[in-house]
Amino acid sequence: MDGGFLLVLSGPSGSGKGTVSEALMKNNDDIIFSTSVTTRTPRPGEVNGENYFFATREEFEKMVDNDELLEHAFVHTNYYGTPKKFVFDEIEKGEIVLLEIDVQGALQIKEKYKEAVFIFLIPPTMDELKSRLVKRDTETEDEIETRYRNAFKELDFVGEYDYFVINDVIDNAVKDIENIIAAEKLRVKRHKNIKKEVQAEEERNK
Ligand code: 5GP
Repeated sequence: MDGGFLLVLSGPSGSGKGTVSEALMKNNDDIIFSTSVTTRTPRPGEVNGENYFFATREEFEKMVDNDELLEHAFVHTNYYGTPKKFVFDEIEKGEIVLLEIDVQGALQIKEKYKEAVFIFLIPPTMDELKSRLVKRDTETEDEIETRYRNAFKELDFVGEYDYFVINDVIDNAVKDIENIIAAEKLRVKRHKNIKKEVQAEEERNK
């Protein structure tokens, strides 16, 4: 089989991207998470190098200047970006690299990498989104308001994506994304020489 590809997952804060991503990676060995760099302060329990690479504004700007980021954006009140080298190395190995990024970053990726797959995760209702944001208790009231307002703005961009998935029941959302991945793996354009793959399989089975 040929190649890996970029899987871009966006959706408003509170749509459940984190939970869906975790479940996806638990079930699928060939999906690798791209750890972003951010200037945001770590939340309790977040681990540097695992959830994010936490950086100062100066460190972040240096990475931008050195062209080390595949995309970057100012989201809500902080900078976020995707380290380039990791992504390219993993795709080269044939992995599916999961980018959990906002719409601005997704649009930058879309400009540069036509082969990427874009999925937009939608909460069942906007009320549910708000109650998830309140319940997770990781942002201040002002931050929750910002994220809630931004959720409506982000929805304007759903038309730029290839697929949308409604995250009502988590297992169903994960299944939907697994189905999308299964179909994307079978795209003829993702395979250099299908005849050769069939012949190689023949050889292996002899
Ligand atoms: P949070 O602060 O809740 O972890 O993330 C806030 C937002 O930033 C989310 O919408 C998340 O998808 C987005 N985000 C996280 N990493 C990146 C990144 O590397 N690039 C971009 N453009 N957005 C990101």
